[in-house]
Amino acid sequence: MTIYAGSIVDTPGDPFAGDPADALAETGALLVQDGVIRARGSLAALTAGHPGEPVTRLDGGLLVPGFIDTHVHFPQIRAIGGLGMPLLDWLERCALPEESKLADQEYAREVAAEFLDGMLASGTTSALVFGSHFAAAMDELFGAAEQRRMNITSGLVLSDRILRPDLLNTPETALADSADLILRWHDRGRLRYAVTPRFSLSATDEMLDVCAQLLGKGVWFTSHVNENVAEIATVAGLFPGARHYLDTYRRHGLVTERSVFAHNVHPDDAELATLAEHGASVAHCPTSNCALGSGLFPLRRHVEHGIHIALGSDVGAGAGLFLPKEALQAYFIQQLLGADGLALTPVHLLYLATRAGAQALGLDDRVGDFAVGKDFDAVWLRPAPSSPLDVNLRHASGGTDALARTFALATPADVAQVWVRGQRAAGQDPR
Ligand SMILES: [Zn+2]
Repeated sequence: MTIYAGSIVDTPGDPFAGDPADALAETGALLVQDGVIRARGSLAALTAGHPGEPVTRLDGGLLVPGFIDTHVHFPQIRAIGGLGMPLLDWLERCALPEESKLADQEYAREVAAEFLDGMLASGTTSALVFGSHFAAAMDELFGAAEQRRMNITSGLVLSDRILRPDLLNTPETALADSADLILRWHDRGRLRYAVTPRFSLSATDEMLDVCAQLLGKGVWFTSHVNENVAEIATVAGLFPGARHYLDTYRRHGLVTERSVFAHNVHPDDAELATLAEHGASVAHCPTSNCALGSGLFPLRRHVEHGIHIALGSDVGAGAGLFLPKEALQAYFIQQLLGADGLALTPVHLLYLATRAGAQALGLDDRVGDFAVGKDFDAVWLRPAPSSPLDVNLRHASGGTDALARTFALATPADVAQVWVRGQRAAGQDPR
């Protein structure tokens, strides 16, 4: 057993459901055994109850739950920074040429390690990962995630039209390759499988039918929806019988409680009602939406419809893997929306970067906050002495104020240590 002591904050509540302040909890210590949180309370109480157990002091900064990224592309870790293009041009010129390179399994192995180590170094311990178009590359990702004991849900990306030919599969090969991957990796340790058509723009009704067959195996589902106006117009032309973009998935039974749709920047009210009715979640990707000029996410309309929202970095369109940066950008976007926006508090930002993701992925019985019984997946954000964040934290008036200053200023350089199920996974040597 180990007792971790410091400024520990998490969001066991839901800040969108009532007074945001009620969603936050602060504590002084956690007792961890075999990677699981066994008790929480003051350091004095835990040391009195468990005398002789070693205490790890995390003095300075904040200890928060491991971040949870609900939309990030593994094959794009080497393609960050392609600015100046809207979605469909960026895919054609920046993302897809890089994704083609993962046909080489050796290349995919290097990329998988860079991607997962990059996430850990940014404090991300769980993720719904948009996979590769190549099955062997998926074996590399799952194998590397298993070694790192990360909570990874991912799947082979499926497309049978419009994209460059080397990225296409047929409905038949998609079904066979996906079924093999599900057998090998789904529910193996902390790994799970997600059926992943790239978007209905690049998937025929036959391919979406295959997705529905695969979803019957009890796995997860993810795809893109309503990211960009040109994309939406193209989808409307490809599916003249669909009521709206989301309907291209709904007609195949792909909008479910186990479905996470990325973006949804331009939904109509019927789409929001459909998402709510089926209990599907939306991954909001703020820096990507800004970088590609996709639009300003209508968070308030999602909340008013009762749709669950979490955060995604959407690397490589997003500007890095560090989820607090996404949370800050989400805050900025809501400010820019004025009366149509939803003013986010620091408690919302922590919730969106942690527990909201766990709920979207059906993992909130295991991770997302520091409740007793959950896995000790944690990030210690401790800034360098005398840095602006260090100065601000020393002048913070309490947990919420410390969070505000952290979300404003923190960078991956402030990730001092990361734990995955109680084991050190990344981080610098203690300063
Ligand atoms: Zn994406």
